[in-house]
Amino acid sequence: MEVKQVTALPEEVEVASVEMSDDVLTIMAVSINQHPCCPLCGEPSIRVHSSYLRKVADLPCSGQQVRLLLHVRKCFCEVINCVRKIFAERITSLMAPWARVTQRLFQIVQIIGLATGGRLGVRVTDRLGIQTTRQTILRRIMALPLEPVEKVPQIGIDDFAFRRGRKFGSILVDLQTHKVLEVLPDRAAKTAAAWMAEHPELEIISRDRGGDYAAAVRKAAPQATEVADRFHLYKNLTEAVEIRKQAEESARKEVPQEVQDALATSKKAFSPRTWKPVPAPRDEQERLARREQRFDRYQQVLALKAQ
Ligand SMILES: [Zn+2]
Repeated sequence: MEVKQVTALPEEVEVASVEMSDDVLTIMAVSINQHPCCPLCGEPSIRVHSSYLRKVADLPCSGQQVRLLLHVRKCFCEVINCVRKIFAERITSLMAPWARVTQRLFQIVQIIGLATGGRLGVRVTDRLGIQTTRQTILRRIMALPLEPVEKVPQIGIDDFAFRRGRKFGSILVDLQTHKVLEVLPDRAAKTAAAWMAEHPELEIISRDRGGDYAAAVRKAAPQATEVADRFHLYKNLTEAVEIRKQAEESARKEVPQEVQDALATSKKAFSPRTWKPVPAPRDEQERLARREQRFDRYQQVLALKAQ
């Protein structure tokens, strides 16, 4: 069996030699296309201008990197009306014009990226013998065309960082298909509202705790029901429980029985309907300290009255 068959190279390519060095398998190949066609007018050329070497990375072979060194030609287009006078021969079944990787390697990296994401993707490609970077994997995913957005009754919206802590965008996801619908350039209420206004079919909008998306919904999709997404609900719940725990601990240490009783009463009244965001621990401590002062003063008044 020949190298060409083993590596599944297309008909128009012939393998000249194979070399192994530094763990890279280099396959020298030449194009055997008799008359390359002009990419503009499609007419075959019969006059060669020059030739050059294209270096492209290909799928790994048994975990080893594979590099193709491909001799291709530049030809004259002799069609009088054609504006292209000289063109580079293309081998479209193997690679896109100007690409530095074969189409099949491009697609494999794209599939790995979709399944694993950027950072994890690099760990997989390293093991497979594919040399790439996290950024390249992300670019391959970004190269996929987004399907046109049609009717989306249920969406989720949240912000994310283009640059950590500096530049934020908004991501919109279809809650039924779990597909990304749109990436907005910022997280402003105005931008989100403009998108929502184009979708009168919206019924449910899942969002974070911030006010911007809430304002967008009020303005552009008042018919939709707003729900807190699971992540932010868990976050709220964890914070509420943690702060309640801290408050109770500090109350037990420092606060008299009456105040502890008051806290216990408020705990009984705690329900999802009446729940409000719990103040930060420092605020809560200050509040308790003030309450303790007031209670002291109250005790002093009682004592003075008794005298
Ligand atoms: Zn032409």
